[in-house]
Amino acid sequence: MLQLRELPSPNADARPAGVPIDMLILHYTGMRSAQAAIGRLRDPAARVSSHYVVDEDGGVVRLVPEARRAWHAGASWWRGNSGLNDRSIGIEIVNPGHEWGYRDFAALQMAVVCDLCLEILSRHSIPTRNIVAHSDVAPDRKEDPGERFDWAGLAANGVGLWPEGVADFGTRGAVRDAAGLRGVRRALTAIGYRVAAEGASDPALATVLRAFQRHWRPEAINGQADPGTLTRLEAVARLADGG
Ligand SMILES: [Zn+2]
Repeated sequence: MLQLRELPSPNADARPAGVPIDMLILHYTGMRSAQAAIGRLRDPAARVSSHYVVDEDGGVVRLVPEARRAWHAGASWWRGNSGLNDRSIGIEIVNPGHEWGYRDFAALQMAVVCDLCLEILSRHSIPTRNIVAHSDVAPDRKEDPGERFDWAGLAANGVGLWPEGVADFGTRGAVRDAAGLRGVRRALTAIGYRVAAEGASDPALATVLRAFQRHWRPEAINGQADPGTLTRLEAVARLADGG
């Protein structure tokens, strides 16, 4: 078991009855320091929290017991469900984020995140395809934990989906025709994203593609259905189909 420091947050309430815990949502704190982030996540006026915070030195704080509903995801959607605080466990991972100097996540920090995720997965029946980024479930509002987050490393240790050995065909020649974009929408939907119906624009397809790229194609985040993105999309959609 990981060593936890208990720093309870008032920003939580009871989970609704009859809803399973079947999602794990990962965030970065996006503040200048861990102390500032933890302070905010415990401030009643902020009305935000998470179940855990993992510091850059690998220290873990528990703010909210898993049985309670922490307020981390906000307006959110995945695989037909909305209001994902009801059914998820949220981990905040300390990093200044895009606003304050986004940097690589420390190796020790990632190892602890991995162990914590594995412990959570041992306690709850969470499908692999439901281990996602905040940006996956709120692409028009959020970009955390972002493209520097090591999803491949986590997946290599049994946490989340990552397609192995997919060639990257680069960024030239993005799909723009209606039939091609229909396939892109289909694949994004199969993975779990909320995608606007054909002809509608909310959320914009480019925004959803950027969220996909931050998670599964971090080499180039351009919001385009370029050849490199398409091969990853199809590969992740196939994996999501299986679990
Ligand atoms: Zn977040």
